[in-house]
Amino acid sequence: MVDTDTGTGTEPDHLIIVEDEPITRALLRSHFEDAGFVVEEREDGDGLTERVLASKVAVLLLDIKLPGKDGLTLARELRNVSDVGIILVTSQGEQVDKLLGLDSGADDYVTKPFDPRELISRTRNLQRRVRAQRHQRAQVHLRQFAGFTLDLNRRELSDPQGRAQHLTAGEFQLLLTFIDHAGEVMSRDRIMARIRNREWYPDDRYIDVLVGQLRKKLGETAGNATLVTTIHGTGYLFTPDVT
Ligand code: CA
Repeated sequence: MVDTDTGTGTEPDHLIIVEDEPITRALLRSHFEDAGFVVEEREDGDGLTERVLASKVAVLLLDIKLPGKDGLTLARELRNVSDVGIILVTSQGEQVDKLLGLDSGADDYVTKPFDPRELISRTRNLQRRVRAQRHQRAQVHLRQFAGFTLDLNRRELSDPQGRAQHLTAGEFQLLLTFIDHAGEVMSRDRIMARIRNREWYPDDRYIDVLVGQLRKKLGETAGNATLVTTIHGTGYLFTPDVT
């Protein structure tokens, strides 16, 4: 199966807390752990972006006053590359409303001293929102057929066992064409009209080569094809319902 981070409730509630004050950090950690979160602590923003991108964490608590890069700078940087939910943790007296107005990239903020129950409930709300968005995006960008999944964003094809392979631009265009015209005999001319672009005019022979490459990635050969069948003298037929 392709892991789409669907937020179905089976994944743990993972949270990253970035806070340089050990006492506040420990306090936050214990509140969130009591609420069932798996907490990762960080003292500053070093390596934070890489960590967020490598993880599936949905929400981040970010202190504003940090050594090195401050929370607002980090929030802006993260927002450029990630959809992670960001809650800024501020001290009283900081002009947060003004700062948030400057396109900080944060989703919410809390002011110390905070009410743990409210903080947890806001964190959960944001987590739900982020996961719902991710789920929606994942759905739009996946096409499924005969146990295979095609990820349109990554141009990646996963077989029924979940093994993923990268497709070249040509293979990808060809497979999309087949999916859109499943059950129709596609002549080489029609296929070419669909997959060529301004820089690229494939010929008949190239289509045959591409089909060969795609078949290999679908685990088939010309002599043993159930998904992409050769229709002699005409072209190809994609029949994903025949498995
Ligand atoms: Ca601080």
